[in-house]
Amino acid sequence: MDQRPLRVAVVGSGPSGIYAAEALTRQTDVDVEVDVIDRLPTPFGLVRYGVAPDHLSIRGIRETLWRLLREPSVRFLGNVELGTDLTVDELRRHFDAVVYTFGASADRRLGIPGEDLPGSLPATDVVAWYCGHPDAARGAVEEALLTARSAVVVGVGNVALDVGRVLARCAYGGALDHTDMPEHVLTALGSCPVRQIHLLGRRSPAHAAFTTKELRELGKLDGVAVRVDPADLAPHPVTDALVESDRVVARNVDVMREWAAAPRSGATGVHLRFFTRPVEILGTGRVEGVVVERTALTPDGSVVGTGERSVIEAQLVVRSVGYRGVPLPGLPFDQTANVVPHERGRVARDGGAVAGEYVAGWIKRGPTGVIGTNKADAHETVAALLADATAGALPPAERPDRDALTDLLSDRGVRVFTLDDWRTIDTAEIALGESRGRARTTLATRASLLDAVRTTTAAEPIN
Ligand code: NAP
Repeated sequence: MDQRPLRVAVVGSGPSGIYAAEALTRQTDVDVEVDVIDRLPTPFGLVRYGVAPDHLSIRGIRETLWRLLREPSVRFLGNVELGTDLTVDELRRHFDAVVYTFGASADRRLGIPGEDLPGSLPATDVVAWYCGHPDAARGAVEEALLTARSAVVVGVGNVALDVGRVLARCAYGGALDHTDMPEHVLTALGSCPVRQIHLLGRRSPAHAAFTTKELRELGKLDGVAVRVDPADLAPHPVTDALVESDRVVARNVDVMREWAAAPRSGATGVHLRFFTRPVEILGTGRVEGVVVERTALTPDGSVVGTGERSVIEAQLVVRSVGYRGVPLPGLPFDQTANVVPHERGRVARDGGAVAGEYVAGWIKRGPTGVIGTNKADAHETVAALLADATAGALPPAERPDRDALTDLLSDRGVRVFTLDDWRTIDTAEIALGESRGRARTTLATRASLLDAVRTTTAAEPIN
């Protein structure tokens, strides 16, 4: 093993995976080769398929991630699904160490009656759709959007803000045309009749999980009136203590106080409704309304129902109550926290940390933080990996030859997407955008991604 570079696989090419690759390649103590593997044909994970397309500057981080991926010792293997194309055990045979950064791809459930009615959607589906994710549930999202006048978004985190803002922009023709949203998304949003949007927070304005910049943006949208009930901002020992101790909370509450004190007018209303939790989604055959209950804060900051109920008329419900990690066969999983158990990034099997298997990002710490949070997180994990390598604690790969893995995938009929393929897709998306007067348009299906690379390479059938 001394004769060859350390072979490391990073599973997932979102920010955590790419920051892990960066930490591995930008050190000089250990000679490392990295394969970044992703189930999608394209890299960048939630930067491509999660960050709202109208947040151009946040999406711009893609350029940095792209630069990090272009390191000569890094290889991208897209369209390779662990658990389907390759098992965890097989992967382990090809690498000295594996860093799992596959995120938290599922949605959390509300557990209330009516949650599965047509017109009730997880935010993960709506976000995937407007970002042009190739596996998006296009039919269900468009059917719900095109018939809704009023929408309820459950949750008061940044994803709820993203969804609320995109819906609020529907009324303003062309407000999203500068983005890279696929054409069918822009068309559907352009015809979407939603004009009232209710964001439900079960606790107080001080408990909302917004970041202030994103919250403030909501109040600057043309034609949009943001409403907050001044009664929700009344003094309370629990919320006052939060405002005192947390500057983000204090700034958020200030913004909401401004809105409550001087409501704007606008054709579209965004109602931030706190102390309100959904108890049932109503409808015969599809969503028609949401029964909500007024809540009250307990001294420890949790909430109890007051029994006071009312109905919000809505034809669309978006459940934006957080993402949820899902288990990968072959890896341990904590069913309560929905993460892979670990000790400072080393996967914990049977209660003990294992050299050779690591986690970073949302599957390590849960779906929290902003993109930058993943850098320190990935670096902590890679520090553990490099310490194990230096200590000679890594079990060497059985099949370390770089081609052995791609040969195996090719034998299985997997059409692996490389960084050259991404370059081609990138060029095709820019050209498509330019043909419509935009900077870029996302190719939203696996077929269109494959078509783009077929023009320059002899592609195997996609799996
Ligand atoms: P989040 O920040 O965890 O917010 C989830 C929201 O859902 C909270 O308001 C939570 O309220 C509420 N909730 C949870 N369970 C509920 C239930 N059963 N009933 C009613 N409400 C419930 O999650 P997120 O919005 O999905 O965001 C995930 C992460 O991505 C966050 O770290 C976020 O900051 C980040 N993100 C950042 C940006 C950006 O920077 N622009 C954009 C998008 C996402 P409680 O507090 O009462 O539990």
